[in-house]
Amino acid sequence: MDEQADFKTVGFIGLGAMGKPMLMNLVNKLPSESQFFVFDVCEPAMDEICKQFPDQVFRRASPKHVAENASTIITMVPEGSHVRTVYLDPENGICSTDVSNKLLIDCSTIDTAASIAVSDHIYKNFPSASFYDSPVSGGVVGATKGTIAFFLGCTDDDPNLKRLTQLASMMGKQIIPCGGPSLGLAAKLSNNYLSGVIAIACSEAYDMGMRSGLDPRTLAKVYAAGTAQNAISDRFCPVPHVYPEASSTGGYKQGFKVQLMRKDFGLAVEMAKRVDSQNVLGEAGLATYDGASKDPKCRDLDSRVVYRYLGGNENWLSEGNDA
Ligand code: NAD
Repeated sequence: MDEQADFKTVGFIGLGAMGKPMLMNLVNKLPSESQFFVFDVCEPAMDEICKQFPDQVFRRASPKHVAENASTIITMVPEGSHVRTVYLDPENGICSTDVSNKLLIDCSTIDTAASIAVSDHIYKNFPSASFYDSPVSGGVVGATKGTIAFFLGCTDDDPNLKRLTQLASMMGKQIIPCGGPSLGLAAKLSNNYLSGVIAIACSEAYDMGMRSGLDPRTLAKVYAAGTAQNAISDRFCPVPHVYPEASSTGGYKQGFKVQLMRKDFGLAVEMAKRVDSQNVLGEAGLATYDGASKDPKCRDLDSRVVYRYLGGNENWLSEGNDA
């Protein structure tokens, strides 16, 4: 069988900051015979991509119409409520048409309960369809470069793993099967919880060290050499001018928006409650990201702006410490 036979008709729903570059990678990497059927509630998002690939990308009037045309469908929308609408709306949802035998992949970062509700509905009504949660990590830059990681809600021996890997490899680098339905999301949410907590802890640790008289570049060396070594300090340092390529150095302009961290952190805290996991840092972390995402000095900036939100000194370099 042609290895890419399944990807002759691909649906893509949600053409935002992540969805659009993911789709562009697929259009550029699949054979030119492949056709793409897209839908977004935002008309200009559809216009833009259809204009760019007039022979391959076609707009459709609803998720239902996408499903009528495509045998593989990827969804990439903001929240659980949108995923429920896209799949379950009785008039216009994907599942309002026959999706038997179709491959359905939701890459949105949402609550596990919404994902399970969609999955249950699909398997009850269309037992031959396949639905996977497959959230991603790596941000807009990763989506554009095709280097994002996929956390797949399936086992290592899932019969669709080869197809899923083939498709995901055109949009990303790492594809990690996480063990079963909704576990891709559980992995993603626990990852973002950990990353969010580390960013707060890093901001506080740098701040107490700097207020005690230390140069943050010395602190970075100490953490990297000691037991506190972590990627946030090393590559995403919340203190500006410690790591030149960190978003903080450019005024926190590029990166993972603080509102998205607030959303994912909240979902992780809810998940912890649901599975009865003790979560002593959850409340403080959530209050911090909630406050930062509403603060005009931080909103729309990279989530490591918590350093600013917590009162960290961003001007240390010009205040007497030469580069
Ligand atoms: P975005 O807001 O830029 O894009 C979402 C798109 O979905 C928009 O174009 C919007 O019009 C569309 N949409 C909303 N409701 C819809 C509906 N009912 N039907 C069809 N389209 C609809 O968001 P994004 O940054 O692309 O994020 C998408 C998902 O990916 C989120 O769950 C987010 O948490 C996750 N994510 C984002 C990043 C990031 O850095 N931006 C990184 C990893 C994961």
